[in-house]
Amino acid sequence: MEDNLVDNTQVDFEKDDYRYMKQAITQAKKAYKLNEVPIGCVIVYEGKVIGRGYNRRNTDKTSLGHAEITAIKKASRYMNDWRLENCTLYVTLEPCQMCAGAIVQARIPRVVIGSMNPKAGCAGSILNILQIPTFNHQCEITKGVCEEECSEMLTTFFKELRKSKKKNTTVTTDGE
Ligand SMILES: [Zn+2]
Repeated sequence: MEDNLVDNTQVDFEKDDYRYMKQAITQAKKAYKLNEVPIGCVIVYEGKVIGRGYNRRNTDKTSLGHAEITAIKKASRYMNDWRLENCTLYVTLEPCQMCAGAIVQARIPRVVIGSMNPKAGCAGSILNILQIPTFNHQCEITKGVCEEECSEMLTTFFKELRKSKKKNTTVTTDGE
């Protein structure tokens, strides 16, 4: 009996992760519409989304325009605290060094990642800033939630970007 209860809890847990990652994907699609690299993030506290963000680096012309930074800012405003204890951060792509640093600074206990970023990720790929034992805070990491959808979004984006660049080049050549 007790074993069954434990199993059910585990299933619910995973279903929630999936549901919140879908919301992070919705954020990423907003970036996509702005021709930004599609990355989205939500922060959840007691079952409620308290911060959302998507990549706006080109639109806002700042390297600080990452999805996680925006979501952390909004969640901190909601909590009225720089500490985001008992929160879970969902992000479609493995965080970079800046965002991983901000996550540790905000004391976020759990991070759920869609797809990994072998070229720039700092949650295990290049570095694992989220789990350096000598820092005063380490995060629990869950990887691969909606992985296919998250990475496909990026693949499609870069494929279309290359296509439009090629088209532009062709136009230039024709004009000459
Ligand atoms: Zn980042």
